[in-house]
Amino acid sequence: MRRGATAPPGGPRAARRAALGTTVFTELTELAQHTGAINLGQGFPDSDGPRTMIDQARKALASGANQYPPLGGAPELRQAIARQRARRYGARYDPDDEIVVTTGATEAVAAAVMAFCDPGDEVVGFDPSYDAYQAAADLAGVAYRRVSLRRTADHFAFAPDELCRAVSPRTRMLLLNTPHNPTGKVFTHSELADIAEVCRSHNLIAVVDEVYEYLTYDGAEHLPLASLPGMRERTISVSSAGKTFSLTGWKVGWACGSAPLVGALRSVKQYLTFAGAAPLQSAVAIGLDHEEEWVEGLRGRLRRQRDLLAEGLAEAGLGVLRAEGGYFLQADTAGSDPAEAERYCRELPLSRGVVAIPTAVFAQDTAEYRHLARFAFCKDPDLLRRAARAIASPSAARASP
Ligand SMILES: *Cc1c(COP(=O)(O)O)cnc(C)c1O
Repeated sequence: MRRGATAPPGGPRAARRAALGTTVFTELTELAQHTGAINLGQGFPDSDGPRTMIDQARKALASGANQYPPLGGAPELRQAIARQRARRYGARYDPDDEIVVTTGATEAVAAAVMAFCDPGDEVVGFDPSYDAYQAAADLAGVAYRRVSLRRTADHFAFAPDELCRAVSPRTRMLLLNTPHNPTGKVFTHSELADIAEVCRSHNLIAVVDEVYEYLTYDGAEHLPLASLPGMRERTISVSSAGKTFSLTGWKVGWACGSAPLVGALRSVKQYLTFAGAAPLQSAVAIGLDHEEEWVEGLRGRLRRQRDLLAEGLAEAGLGVLRAEGGYFLQADTAGSDPAEAERYCRELPLSRGVVAIPTAVFAQDTAEYRHLARFAFCKDPDLLRRAARAIASPSAARASP
């Protein structure tokens, strides 16, 4: 028998890979590129991070920081992360064995799923979710059970008893993201207390994606789940330089937790990437030590941009929900034509020259979010004004190419 005679290798096999598919997300991003529409779909800022960080990266590149850094990450970066957690949250982590540098927060989450779960195990989290979580679970052969963040008048909340019911004897890990993408929700102290109670009583490891830890608005405050009673020893806190310093292309992330948890994560990460880009690590250390004021400025700009976009969308007749953190806001398309967010978002690039993402692409329970669209506000104010005007404009008929 001639093996492989009918199908080339890597084609139709591998159901795990096939499950990842091509999303509406990819489709709409490509549409934005082809049509030149204003892309409020993908969350990347259109201006760079602090000068000092970029200068340091250039200096490191020119002065020989070009070979593999240690598996755990450059010591100076791990020390800067330890200082940042201590200064900001009063949390002590040993840079030697309680902190690991990863290739973005994304690698930290994927490595955690693989480190703490076997195929057939379960992870519990919230719906909607950042899309990489489902993919990490699928690739690891792990079931991702989600608890709905349900619409309230202008925001999102979950029912603690639904969270309890989502936990089974196979559940190993709880995956939380706060401040939350795509909803803009910042989990409150009392919500975190409910989540912590579930983790403690079912002996779960918590992995918390805190990439928007600095980007909160209107007095909302980011609280690490690890700071709640009994949670430090069972929580991995994940963050990244990407969102904090507007350097999303650098992909420098990290994970902090107890030595046994971080050791397990590091042993998986060893065979995923071993290490991230060496010359960027000292630059991120400088950012963490010296650029909090710059980040404070970014936070103010993002809040103003959020308000600008929210006002514009409201004038265009969309219902705008409260976004307390991150890069995105949620808009209700129920009163629009078409009312279904997926159809609304498919028509928007052609009719108005703007790209937004239907929130249902991040969800398992797509019906719950069928009237919601996610808009990014991490963009230049002029661009946001133009986008809002285009959406509101009655003359921008849906006939243009
Ligand atoms: C953008 C984003 C990430 C990606 O972080 P990297 O450091 O670029 O891997 C992870 N989680 C959430 C919730 C995000 O929005």
